[in-house]
Parts: sequence; structure tokens; C-alpha cells
Amino acid sequence: MACGHSVPARRVASTHSHLLKGNASEPSFEWVGTDLEQVFLARPGCRREARMSSEKKDEMKSVGRRGFLRGASALGAGAAIGSALLPGCDDSSTPASQVEWDEAWDVVIVGGGGAGLVAALSAIEHGAEDVLILEKGSELGGTTAVSGGQIQAAGTSFQSAMVSGDTPERHLEYYLQAAEGVADEDLLRTLTENAQAAVDFMVSKGLTYVGVYGVSPIPTVDADLMVPRIHIPSAGGEDALQGGAAHVSVLKDAAEADGVETYLEAPVLGLVKDENEGVVGVKAMVGGVESFLQARLGVVLATGGFDRNQAMNKEFSPQQMWELETGVCYCVPENQGDGIKLGISVGAGLSGLGGTIGYPGATMGTAEEIGGIWVNRQGQRFCNEEGHYAYKMLHVFGQERHQAWAVFDQSVADVGGEALGGIFGGWSADLSAEIASGLISRAETLEDLAAALDMNAAQLARTVASWNEDVGEGADPLFGRTLALRPLETGPFYAVPVTSVNLGSCGGLKIDTSCRVLDMEGAAIPRLYAAGMAAGGFIGPYYPGSGTAVLSTVVFGRIAGEQVAGMLPQEGSV
Ligand SMILES: Cc1cc2nc3c(=O)[nH]c(=O)nc-3n(C[C@H](O)[C@H](O)[C@H](O)COP(=O)(O)OP(=O)(O)OC[C@H]3O[C@@H](n4cnc5c(N)ncnc54)[C@H](O)[C@@H]3O)c2cc1C
Repeated sequence: MACGHSVPARRVASTHSHLLKGNASEPSFEWVGTDLEQVFLARPGCRREARMSSEKKDEMKSVGRRGFLRGASALGAGAAIGSALLPGCDDSSTPASQVEWDEAWDVVIVGGGGAGLVAALSAIEHGAEDVLILEKGSELGGTTAVSGGQIQAAGTSFQSAMVSGDTPERHLEYYLQAAEGVADEDLLRTLTENAQAAVDFMVSKGLTYVGVYGVSPIPTVDADLMVPRIHIPSAGGEDALQGGAAHVSVLKDAAEADGVETYLEAPVLGLVKDENEGVVGVKAMVGGVESFLQARLGVVLATGGFDRNQAMNKEFSPQQMWELETGVCYCVPENQGDGIKLGISVGAGLSGLGGTIGYPGATMGTAEEIGGIWVNRQGQRFCNEEGHYAYKMLHVFGQERHQAWAVFDQSVADVGGEALGGIFGGWSADLSAEIASGLISRAETLEDLAAALDMNAAQLARTVASWNEDVGEGADPLFGRTLALRPLETGPFYAVPVTSVNLGSCGGLKIDTSCRVLDMEGAAIPRLYAAGMAAGGFIGPYYPGSGTAVLSTVVFGRIAGEQVAGMLPQEGSV
């Protein structure tokens, strides 16, 4: 494997999967990591509770209020489905002139995750009457439902209870500094200016927030901008749904109350385009039948990222490809970049591709809170181990052969595997299982450890000597780390590769601040909108901190819904 790891990918994955608390094929996890910057993995049972009853599913899968003309499709089953690069979706759109509609709606929303649900509610709120969500999976929620549901915002009452003086302008400045000049300032301004309203919107649907915390240090961002902004959601008391399950459940209840129609197991396969009107509908599988659904006002693409599509990752995000090959991804399997491909089929431009929501899952407990350092193949440290997770993963990816290890000594190992195992919920108490599986390397001396890892032994010795000297004086002058400043001096010594718990890809369809999908030249494609992580341009080289993705689903979902509802119906629509 060109960008492989010394521990084979399959071995890392299986080693981890037996440590998961829950069924590896449909994981349910408890939070076990740092309290500095949490990734909330849905509590056991949350996802189950958030599911719809089977009766409800049947009801929703049945043909909608406006279903008619079924089976009269001009192209029928003969239409091409899929392409070599991006299987599952058409690689070209269908001309409206060749289509007979099976159904007609005001607004068709592609994807029933966080952004899709918000866009549907917003479209109804702004006057659209017939709003349909087409969801590829067997339930609503997407990755949002398994996420922490945490959202960044400045100036909310929840935040004000903890810190004063924070503003959308400061929030914007933090995002701009983290983006290192490569994100769209207008989109970031839109996000930050509407963040407080996004939190209010969620509260109006029945959500509350039970805590607010901050992002871990990022070297390119001024320390005074790093204040608590990440809001932790809850549906109510301790027994209520928490995290993304809570976030999605209030949206689902509101969508049902507002009369939003939903077809489950209804993947959208292509867009229908009219020369004059723009995007006028979609081709989708509805009840197992390929159907054409007209969207009188427009279509919103809310299909999430291309998280799990390795062909797209290879084209657009080598870091995402590497994280999937060497780590694990917790996004829903449906998120294959379909919306991005649908956009491309009608000429959409792309923006913000490349970073990841990468989280160094296997090693959180060691370097950051307990001790140890991260080194590369040259035996050198390369970042502040207590820094922001996605910033660190970008820098791991930037090392030779994308390799880095957390190195620690026996005094750290003595803390025990339960605390050391990071997000995976602990290793065996004396690490023997992980040493036997090859996940953890152990050697009596640093020199032997370096030899086992094919690492520069002389440099590792210099790095550790210099680290020990610095922490003896209580500081890390190289990277400014402040936590767990402990020397590495008691053999045996240990090393574990830093691999990713991947929470999604970054980048997608180019949009403007009205969430209109833009072509390569920056012109809007009429009647086509995008929201959430199907869109791109608001994230720089790495994900800038928990709460950004969910913020994009609520802010851009609301805008997309409002904008599409404000369109005049296409001429001659049924
Ligand atoms: C474990 C975990 C924890 C996380 N925690 C946080 C957090 O606390 N805060 C935060 O900001 N971010 C978090 N993230 C990231 C964040 O959850 C996602 O990036 C975000 O929720 C994506 O929202 P979305 O609406 O764009 O996509 P999704 O919510 O994934 O929805 C996309 C939907 O589109 C559907 N779909 C796909 N293709 C088609 C098609 N062709 N036709 C019809 N439907 C289709 C999918 O089935 C899915 O339901 C986390 C991610 C993970 C994995």
C-alpha cells in the first residue's frame, strides 16, 4: 500500500473492533475520551430510540399525497444508472423534455439527515406547501443522528452563562485564522452571523443545551479567540435523548407536525434539467420503482459528504482516503457523495475539498492527558499533542508515509489500558492483548523500539532527551504543550500508531451565501441548492472544531429552505 501503515489496516480495524462497546457492524459507543474536546458518540440505545416505528415507516413509504402518473416515465428502467467513478448515481442529468412526471412537489429535498430536515422545515415555514424528503436509508437522521449534535455559536444565552464578550465577529475571526486563507469568508460570515439564530431555531423545536466548551489549541489561531462555543445538546432530562439523536428527534417531530412528506429507501439517482428553468426535478427509486419527481420550486441537495466513497476520496481527498484505509469511519454508509455527483452532472463547481474530520481515536488517552509524545519516522515531534484533533490529523498525514506514533514509557503504561485506549474504550489492563495483536510495540530500550518501527533511533534518543530536559523545567518550548509534561525515562518503552476515527470528509458543492449551487464560473444553477456537508468552501485545510458541521446543517439548511420556497413555480409545472 503506497501510503500504508506499519500495522496493516485490516489488523488495526479488527483490533479496535473487538474493543468497541457495542456491535461493530452497527456501533453504539460511550464517550470515554478527553473532556477538553469531546466527540460524543451516541449512547447505547439512543439510535434505537430515535428510530421510527415500523408502522410509521410503512406510512411514510407509501405513495405521497400528490403521487400520480406512476410508471409513465419516458425513460423508464432503461435509463443509465451509475458511473465507474461514482456508482449509484447518474453521471449526467436527464433533459426535462424527455420526462413524464410521476409526481409533483413544490420542493424536493435529497437526503433526510440534519441539513435535509432543517431545509424542509424552513421551506414550509417560508410558504412552500408540498415538501418531500427523499432519503436513501431506511431511517431519517443520517450521520447527524449518530453525531454529538454539538453546534458552535457565539453570543447565545447558553454561552453567556459561561463567558461574556464573545461575538459573531470573533467567531468569524477564529474560523478565518483556522482556515489559513483558503475558506470563503462570505460563507463563514454567513455561518457565524446566523449561529445564534440556529441555536434559537433548535430550541424552538424542543432542544436544549446542557454545556458549552471550547476547541483545543490551534497554533494558527490567537489564544484569546479560543473561547467556549461548542454547545452540547439534550432533548431534556437525564433520561431523554442526548447528542445527535436528540437533535434529529426534535427535527423529525417538527417535520411530521408540519406535514413534510418523507420517502425512505428512496435514493435519488439523477437530476432533471430544463434549458430555461434549471433543475426541475429528480429521478429516484420510489417503492422500488424508478420515478421522476417534479420540483416546481427547486431541489435541495442535503446528502452529506463523500465520507465513505473511496473512489471520490482518491480523486478529491487523499487524506480522507488514507484515514479510511488505516482507521475507522463512523459516518453512515449511505454518505457516498451522491449529492456532489448530482451537482457535477449539471455543471456544479466544487469547493473546500481536502481536509477531514479526523480524530486520533486510538491515542487520545496517552499523550494528551497522561503522558507520552508523538513522533514521526524520523523520531521527531511535529505538533502539540494536546492540540485540536483535526489539526493534528492533518499533520500526521503530512509526515513521511503518513506515519506517526504515540511513544510512552512504563510509568504511563502503569496507568492501565482502560484509561490509555482513548475513544475505543480502553485496552487490556496490562496492554498484553494489544502487544500480542501487534497494535502496540514494546521494547526494553528506546533504541530497540525505534528499530522495531524502522524509525531513526539516534534522533528519537535526541528527541526524548530534549523533551525530558524541557519538561524538567516545566515547559514545552517547541510546541507550547501544557498538559502531562512528564519525562519518558522508565523502560520498557511503548509505541502505538496514530490512526483516525474519521467523522467525515470536508468540501463539496460550491455555493453562495443563498445556498445556490454555483458552476465553475460562479454562476448560480437555477433552482438548485445545497446545505450541510454536501456543500463546501467554509472549511480550510482541516476541520476547525466540533460543532462546525452541525452548524452548517442548521444555518445553510434554513437558508436553502427559505430561498427555494421563495422561487416562482417553473412555467407549465403540473
Ligand atoms: C460519531 C460522529 C460524531 C460527530 N459529532 C459531531 C458534532 O458533535 N458536531 C458537529 O458539528 N459535527 C459532528 N460530526 C460530523 C457531523 O455529524 C456531520 O458532518 C453532519 O451531521 C452531516 O450532516 P448532513 O446533514 O450534511 O449529512 P447527514 O446528516 O449525513 O445526512 C445526509 C443524508 O443524505 C442521505 N443520502 C445520501 N445520498 C442520498 C441519495 N442519493 N438520495 C437520498 N438520500 C441520500 C443519507 O442517507 C443521509 O441520511 C460527527 C460525526 C460523527 C460520525
